[in-house]
Amino acid sequence: MHDFQYKNGELYCEGVPVKTVAQRIGTPFYLYSSNTLSMHFRAFDTAFSGVPRVICYALKSNSNSAILRLLGREGAGADIVSGGELFRALRAGIDPKKIVYAGVGKRRDEIEYALKIGILMFNVESGDELRALDDAAGEMRATARIALRVNPNIDPKTHAYISTGLKENKFGIPIEQALEYYQMARSLSHVEIVGVHHHIGSQITEVQPFVDALEKVVAFIKELKSAGMNIKYIDIGGGLGITYKDETPPLPRELATAIQPLLKDCGCTLVLEPGRAIVGNAGILVTSVLYHKETGEKKFLIVDAGMNDLIRPSLYDAYHEIKPIVEPAAQDPHDVVDVVGPICESGDFLAKERDMPAVKRGDLLAVMSGGAYGFSMSSNYNSRPRVAEVMVRGNEYFVIRERETYNDLIKGEKIPRWLAG
Ligand SMILES: *Cc1c(COP(=O)(O)O)cnc(C)c1O
Repeated sequence: MHDFQYKNGELYCEGVPVKTVAQRIGTPFYLYSSNTLSMHFRAFDTAFSGVPRVICYALKSNSNSAILRLLGREGAGADIVSGGELFRALRAGIDPKKIVYAGVGKRRDEIEYALKIGILMFNVESGDELRALDDAAGEMRATARIALRVNPNIDPKTHAYISTGLKENKFGIPIEQALEYYQMARSLSHVEIVGVHHHIGSQITEVQPFVDALEKVVAFIKELKSAGMNIKYIDIGGGLGITYKDETPPLPRELATAIQPLLKDCGCTLVLEPGRAIVGNAGILVTSVLYHKETGEKKFLIVDAGMNDLIRPSLYDAYHEIKPIVEPAAQDPHDVVDVVGPICESGDFLAKERDMPAVKRGDLLAVMSGGAYGFSMSSNYNSRPRVAEVMVRGNEYFVIRERETYNDLIKGEKIPRWLAG
């Protein structure tokens, strides 16, 4: 469910007509619904209210400060993958005791930053990283609380680029070898074992992969416990899918129903790391139609947002529904078009061979389900300023990130002495 609906023939975000925002700030821009964000967070929190839990929102899906602040106020913690994300989480007021830190390539400065802050735990992905943590913590006279990210070798049945829990992926430690790594961790004086982590992929639309992975991990925790290790947290990652087209992913409640029984005897606090499921359908990308173009082969609809603004179609062949802001009538003419952006790449498209209501130059379009991995993956490619982001609450809206200017494009660039003048 989300708060982008047609009312009186035009698309609204909660109580605000999308057109009103477009007229004020121009296009393209991302538009987010506060109510949808809160509702999605609460859906997780309520679903898992039967167990002790920490819900660590995955910042990489959308790290805008206003969104973090909203979720933080709802009680969210943070799943971070870099020092920059730690900075953002702290600035948004998220409790360090609810921050977990994943990623295969944590740098020394990032490790020190997180140790200084005292996060809940590092989700460690290799033996080298364990030793690096022990080193850094030793020098700082600190203790690194850790979980090992285990790879349960489960096929999440999602796009290969967002599948992370298979043997061939770079993430985690194969579950068969993980006991050795825990024993090694136990031998390190500045590392404290507190948990076990896994995350098998993203945009998962069935309950079964979650259950299969958890069964393996719960059995593994039993093994760890009988080896005398004190496991307090079981972190099951994120990955719950959303509806982009016609997928019917489980609701948080259905996920909870399936997995809570498995956690009964484990005696652990559950950590969840949802990203997409919270923010994905809470945001849209609003763009304007620039031109129509017809070649012998194809019809193109050229719009003012491109792959630098939303790369998911190019990168993952992802489907995003595209709707006119003015509600089309059933009898309106249709066209099959490629919706493309202005970027000089053939891979720059938002939709291919899409049957759409016919639209005119200047018409506004909403690219749906753009809240997750939209702005956060955007770039300045082709020297395009990154777009504005706007948050709606009820009948109000607020620009939560200004559109970049041309001067922002050259921020930090310098001309060497020998080229100056
Ligand atoms: C990306 C990621 C998440 C969030 O995934 P979603 O599919 O957006 O829920 C959670 N945990 C880890 C370790 C991740 O890498």
